[in-house]
This record gives sequence, structure tokens and C-alpha cells, in this order.
Amino acid sequence: MIDLHTLVAYTDALLECGRFDDYAPNGLQVEGRHQVRRLVAGVTACQRLLEVARAQEADAVLVHHGYFWRNESPRVVGMKRRRLAILLEAQLNLLAYHLPLDAHPRWGNNVQLGRRLGLRVLGTLDLPGTQGLVWHGELPQSMTAEEFGRLVAERLDRRPLLVAGGLSPIRRLAWCTGGAPHYFQAVAEVGAPIAVDAYLTGEASEPVTHVARETGVHFFAAGHHATERYGVHALAAHLAEHFSLEWTYVEVDNEV
Ligand SMILES: [Zn+2]
Repeated sequence: MIDLHTLVAYTDALLECGRFDDYAPNGLQVEGRHQVRRLVAGVTACQRLLEVARAQEADAVLVHHGYFWRNESPRVVGMKRRRLAILLEAQLNLLAYHLPLDAHPRWGNNVQLGRRLGLRVLGTLDLPGTQGLVWHGELPQSMTAEEFGRLVAERLDRRPLLVAGGLSPIRRLAWCTGGAPHYFQAVAEVGAPIAVDAYLTGEASEPVTHVARETGVHFFAAGHHATERYGVHALAAHLAEHFSLEWTYVEVDNEV
């Protein structure tokens, strides 16, 4: 059992939330009861996740995708009202960490995904405008794009979309979890010695096909949800251990 404000202050500091220009508020988004004993973690604060958290008598929900995104309507109506009603009626706290959780060098989505794929994680590729969100690393040995696609499918339990950039094998990769097809061209045009053979992110967009064909760098879309399960899972496990909390990760499957 831990006081809510101790939990929030610790997590905000751990993830260095002040460093990021984000699209949504990080940290405590909806306040519930002031003592936290049981934590439920998930990728997105959707209604299904909140229902499971309520049924498990959780005190706090920890997610990567919370609410109050820049440019969304601020009205509390419809789907948003139903979600907030569950939180407020059950006195559930909602803690959400977006870019700080993508970027964290230990608990972050990117580093956790790199490890899950068996890569030697080398750090961030410091490209302009990417806020340290593009990472790079190496496979233990070269493989074809199809072989790497099968490895991703097996480790993430979801088949990725592959846009082949040619026939060349993959040894060096860059990646960014979630929805980051827009970084592909900058990544593909990075020169030696940090040039990569492939780029992996969660979602695709129409221009990536042409970037792959014209630069020879392979592109993989491995799922926005599937690439972002591992940061919140690792962070929740750490918080639970640090503060002696009960916790579960709840997988609400998502094809995208
Ligand atoms: Zn995301």
C-alpha cells in the first residue's frame, strides 16, 4: 500500500516527464482514492480495460495511451463520459505516460521492444525532431527480410506488414514503437556509419512503400498496440516491486 502522491511523484521523476513536448498530459490524469494497493496495467485506457480494473478492485490503472489529447474535443460526452464515469464511480486513479514511456532507457517501449526482438540495443539515433524516440541496434546475425518478419511475428504474436526495400539482408535496424511511419525517410537516408538495413514501427502510411523502394531500406509495420505492450508492462512490474503493490497486466487485443 502506497500513498497516491508518493507513487505519482516517484513515477513522474523516474520518467523525466518535464523533458517532453507531448500531445497529452503525463502522470495523474484522473484522481481516485488516495491509497494504492492494486495496480492494473494496459496499453490503452479503453472501456474494456477499465471494466477489468474495476472487477479486479484495482486502485490505479497505468497506461501508455490515456486521455485529453491535443486537438480532441474537451466535451465530456458519449464514449469519453462512459470511460470517465467508470473511473470516478470506482474511485480508480488513471496514470498515463506517453512519450516519457516510449523514451525511457530502461523501462521504455523502445528499449523493451528491442530486447524482446533479441537485438543488441545501441541507443537512440539522434535525428532532428525525433525527441530521442528512434532507436537502433543489431541482430546477432544477418537474416533475410522474410526471416526477420517471421521472428517479429513469433515474438509479438502478430504478423507484421513488410514492405521490402530489395533483396539485401538485415543486420542493422532502427525502430520506433507506435505510430511513426513519418520518421522512415529520415532514418532510411542516414548515412554511414549508422546506416540501417530496416526500420520497424507500429503503423504504416502510403509513402513508406516509395521510401523503401527508392532507398533499399526494408520497412516493417508490426502493430501500434503490439509494439507498445512492453514498456507499460515493465514499468508496472518495477513500481509493484518498488512499492510492494499487487499488479496485473491486462491485454486487450488490438489488430492495429
Ligand atoms: Zn502509441
